Amino acid sequence: MSHRILVSGASIAGNTAAWWLSRLGNDVTLVERASEFRDGGQNIDVRGVGREVLRRMGLEQAALDRGTGEKGTTWVDDMGEVVAAFETDELEGDGPTAEMEILRGDLARLLYEPAQEGATFRFGDTIEHIDDNNERVCVTFASGKTESYDLVIVAEGVGSKTRELVFPDENDPRWMDLTIAYFTIPRTPDDNRMWRWYNATGGRSLSLRPDNHGTIRANLTIQQAPGGEQDWDADRQKAYMRERFADA
Ligand SMILES: Cc1cc2nc3c(=O)[nH]c(=O)nc-3n(C[C@H](O)[C@H](O)[C@H](O)COP(=O)(O)OP(=O)(O)OC[C@H]3O[C@@H](n4cnc5c(N)ncnc54)[C@H](O)[C@@H]3O)c2cc1C
Repeated sequence: MSHRILVSGASIAGNTAAWWLSRLGNDVTLVERASEFRDGGQNIDVRGVGREVLRRMGLEQAALDRGTGEKGTTWVDDMGEVVAAFETDELEGDGPTAEMEILRGDLARLLYEPAQEGATFRFGDTIEHIDDNNERVCVTFASGKTESYDLVIVAEGVGSKTRELVFPDENDPRWMDLTIAYFTIPRTPDDNRMWRWYNATGGRSLSLRPDNHGTIRANLTIQQAPGGEQDWDADRQKAYMRERFADA
């Protein structure tokens, strides 16, 4: 029996759900807040059940082929010298660097391509209101459309607005008291295929990871709860991080 299903969020979870549900004969619509498919994002290491799902979708090798090419993880000292190294091959793919390391956007795109064959995508819209009467779910979209579904799946990631609508006050993320800046920088000749991680004093760390796009994914982490810095403009954020990490 075919059901009319709405999936909200077109990233890893949403595209995977849309692929499976449309393949099983359901009429699936996927709504995504962004105006077009979102590339970008940082490393994800896929292990366990995530890898099994890709295998069953016939996408395991394609995901390995689109991997970042990271060969392992090294901890380095303040001069950049390696003090500990974990090569992925030596740990059968189960070390800090997994055998399957892929950027979020590359993995989402890998799932999005086949999902389009069975599901209808609607970009630039969001769920505004949900009325679930136990038989049907009536959804009003920000665009003004109202439609009813047998099932609504919320795959909007952390901080989902729709999850808050359906489960008010049960949607608090578990904050980990970390302030992290993520960015992408040019490769330089001394970059290699290893993840290089440096722990500085004062709860600070820096990490550089190779990717398959000719750039380096970098992050600066401070062990401290965010105090509003996430809302500053980029120039102020950069100045803050530059000052905090000047001696590292
Ligand atoms: C540096 C870093 C490393 C990570 N490492 C790992 C790892 O090793 N392994 C791992 O499993 N995970 C890792 N993660 C987490 C990983 O990125 C998330 O688990 C993953 O992206 C979650 O996928 P998702 O599809 O659930 O949500 P997301 O990727 O967050 O996507 C949510 C989608 O929903 C859309 N959306 C949001 N709100 C709405 C709305 N109201 N209406 C419509 N659309 C909406 C967004 O635009 C987005 O497209 C890492 C994350 C980071 C930042």
